[in-house]
Formats: sequence, structure tokens, C-alpha cells
Amino acid sequence: MTDRRAIVLVVCASCREPAHVGVDTFPISAHLIASSCEMPYTYSTTEVVLGKGGVDDAPANGLLAALPGASRERLLANTQLVSLTVKDVLYHPGDSITAVYFPLTCVISMMTEMKNGATIEIATVGNEGVHEIASYLGIDEAVALGITQVSGEARRMSVEDFKQAAKSDELFDTILRRYTHALLMQIARSGGCNSLHSVEERYTRWLLMMHDRTNVDVFAFTQEFLSRMLGVSRARVNIVTKALEKAGRIKNSRNQITVLDWKGLEASSCDCYRFIKQEFARVLV
Ligand SMILES: [Zn+2]
Repeated sequence: MTDRRAIVLVVCASCREPAHVGVDTFPISAHLIASSCEMPYTYSTTEVVLGKGGVDDAPANGLLAALPGASRERLLANTQLVSLTVKDVLYHPGDSITAVYFPLTCVISMMTEMKNGATIEIATVGNEGVHEIASYLGIDEAVALGITQVSGEARRMSVEDFKQAAKSDELFDTILRRYTHALLMQIARSGGCNSLHSVEERYTRWLLMMHDRTNVDVFAFTQEFLSRMLGVSRARVNIVTKALEKAGRIKNSRNQITVLDWKGLEASSCDCYRFIKQEFARVLV
């Protein structure tokens, strides 16, 4: 192996705002410009040893990994490896769906957006799934905002090739049908969770789902970004962040959340986390 992979944290040299946390080739060559202060970023890296099943074992996407070698190779030949950066918008509601994305190390959020600009997350799509599945159902317009939550890589495939692959490969078609069920279940459960469970429970569920899909402990989330995900005010996010910090579950510093106690976070989460996780495992294994 000529290159190594590492969890990479990129911060602005001037304002120290985190710009990117993801899995990259180590060392990275970053030529990023901070959007807030327009100063060149410096970057610091924390190298970690990736166990079996990490980014070097392609494909890291569960739907692709479930296919036998020959059909997986056929499918992968029609994909391109793309790098997505946090806040990259893949689709606005009403956009034509031209391609689907199989996340490898990135995480994509499906969000609903109200007329007054208020937003809330309705589903998370990571390396267990594909975005935008509506095209599989014959729908050619996105209904949700699709935005990158965690930077990283994905496999991109044109809608035409995606539909053709689903039509010609019975197992792939079955996998997509079962994934569609699991995603609908996640959306339905999120609706109940967003209405009935506390902000702290939802905040911790969200972090746990991020961790399952990235296997990292450090996230570059601003309070504003979290408030848009959770559909609550920044002040409310701040209160919950402080409470979780006081309990020793997380550390919040310069828009960077480091999780210190995953077991404790699981105890703070509602049962929606386990329910969604178990349902995905049940229908996709
Ligand atoms: Zn819940």
C-alpha cells in the first residue's frame, strides 16, 4: 500500500474554525480557503489505525458490498469516485435527480425545508445506503434537501445506469427494495422522534448515527448547523451541548465536537437509535 489513510481535521489558521473532518490520504495536501475569513487553511492530522473493514477494504458501502464479486464489479465500473465536502448540496427540493450517491466515508443528510426557511433532518444516509433512492421508484425530482453532513468519499452513478442496473440485476433490485423499506422506516421513526422526544435525546441519537457511519469521534459541527439539523434554536443547541459536556459525554471546542463517552451517549439517547439500527440490520443482512 503506497498511501495511508487518516482521520484528518482541517482548521483555519486565522479563526481556527474547523473546515473539514474526514478520512483522507495521509498526509493530505490541502489548498482550501476558509469561507468565513478567506485565509488559507492550515491543517493538523491525527493518524489512526484502521481495522479490517476500514476505508482500504473497498467497497465500504454496505449495499455494494452485499453484491457478489462479478455483479459488484459490473456496477462499480459505471461509478465515479467523488469527494464531498460538508455543506455540499446534492439536491434542492424540486431538482431533477441526475445521479445517485453511494457514500463510502461521507454522510449525507435528507432535510425537509419549510417556507419560512426552517429545516429539520428526516433521514441520514451513510455507508449503509444510497442517495437519492427516489429515482429507483421512478421519481425524477428530489423532494428533500440533500446536503453533506460529514466530508468524505462516495461512489456516484448516473440515474440511467442506476435504473438499468436495478432492472438487470435481480439481487441488486431486491437489496434496493429492502433498503427503500429501511429508509422509509427511518423517516417515519424520525417524524415520531422529532415530535415526541427531547432535544437531548435527538441530539445524542444523531451523534450515535454519525459515529456508526463514520467510525470517528470528532465532528466539525457548528451550533448553527446543529440547530438546522435538529430544528431548534441555536440557544437550545447550546444548552444541550453544555449539559452533555457537564455529564462528560462530549467536549465542545471551536465548533468541533469530540465524543468522549459513546456508552454514556447511548444511555442518553431515546430508543429510536436502537430501533432504526436493528431494523436496518434485520432487513439488509
Ligand atoms: Zn427518538
